[in-house]
Amino acid sequence: MKAISVLGSTGSIGTQTLEIVEDFPEKFKVVALTAGRNLKLLAQQIQRHNPEVVALADESLLSDLEDILNAIPKNERPANLPKLIGGASGLNVAAAWDSADLVVTGIVGCAGLLPTLSAIRAGKDLALANKETLIAAGPVVLPELQKSGSRLLPADSEHSAIFQCLQGTPLANNAHLSTGVPTPGLRRIQLTASGGAFRDWSAEELKKATVKDAISHPNWSMGQKITVDSATLMNKGLEVIEAHYLFGLDYDHIEIVIHPQSIIHSMIELKDSSVLAQLGWPDMRLPILYCMSWPHRLDTPWRRLNLTEVGQLSFLAPDTHKYPCMELAYAAGQKGGTMPAVLNAANEEAVSQFLQEKIHFLDIPKIIESTCEKHKSDFQADPRLDDILFVDQWAREIVREKI
Ligand code: NDP
Repeated sequence: MKAISVLGSTGSIGTQTLEIVEDFPEKFKVVALTAGRNLKLLAQQIQRHNPEVVALADESLLSDLEDILNAIPKNERPANLPKLIGGASGLNVAAAWDSADLVVTGIVGCAGLLPTLSAIRAGKDLALANKETLIAAGPVVLPELQKSGSRLLPADSEHSAIFQCLQGTPLANNAHLSTGVPTPGLRRIQLTASGGAFRDWSAEELKKATVKDAISHPNWSMGQKITVDSATLMNKGLEVIEAHYLFGLDYDHIEIVIHPQSIIHSMIELKDSSVLAQLGWPDMRLPILYCMSWPHRLDTPWRRLNLTEVGQLSFLAPDTHKYPCMELAYAAGQKGGTMPAVLNAANEEAVSQFLQEKIHFLDIPKIIESTCEKHKSDFQADPRLDDILFVDQWAREIVREKI
């Protein structure tokens, strides 16, 4: 029985993780949950999973949560209600909860950074969905992983595909899993991208893109922020940086290929020129489950892949003119240091402003580019945690001021 903590349990990753726990009650149990503001869903999750601790990001909502739980008839709620804690310190305590074996990080954005670090410092294994943490703070997170011995299992579908393809290829001497030390036999990574909501739109048509258009993903069902990131292809750019930190390859050996069917979830080329790919329907439960069961494979009743039903798999080079965010991400990744944190924060803030209809879709890359440009004079090559947190806030303020 593996004890699981779910950070961001009310989101798309969080709810799918809890579905898996329900599918395998003999294998997994929930010990900690964290959420932002969705009290109704969180209360249902507490009722169903009976965790030991629950943390709410918004501390002011704790008494409302207590009221909701107390209003549940006694015979329908767990005998012992969980310990309820709130705010940043509450999230950190829940993330490091003693009885947990694996922490699934499903918080969206850089808000996941400090809880993730708490989990790592407590020596927990991680199923990392919250890519923004690694992108913003790779230079801080990787040494912490080495120090604590926490194992980082990628839950992002592309990185899970790479991780799965790498099973059986020996790691470097003394290397930990996915902690930025290149696997000696690995030559190249190819990240596949569906092309997002606008893949069939012309650059001219993008001028008319609305929020409603941007949050309709053709293949994947995900939270709003990552769905907009998929529409700008910033998600793929962020994944390039994530792959660099996880698998240790330089940026010239991490490529993007558009694959509209989202059946191949990514590929690796080994030094002997063999190419390995991982295939499946676009369903996030699979990479999450693999983090939870690794290195074992559990028998699922899920829809099985039938390639004759798919018919054709096609591949295209990405259009960097239509989607400038990819090149911005490569440039920030290659610069390293604090620059990916600035790129990430500017993107988070620009996407949030777009979702509130304060800026146009096409403003997103322009805002990110000018914020990164402005950061060049204060750039730090070897940042500490405080530096990352500082530039994260700085970049958000710059974006807000601009708007
Ligand atoms: P959602 O928006 O669906 O869920 C986000 C979760 O984070 C919710 O539980 C939300 O709480 C919580 N949250 C929001 N703000 C804060 C905060 N300031 N402090 C603490 N918790 C907060 O996001 P997704 O599940 O789509 O994505 C989560 C992460 O996983 C992202 O980093 C994303 O890039 C990554 N990812 C997601 C995939 C997917 O299929 N969804 C695929 C691959 C990666 P509440 O709702 O209660 O306010």
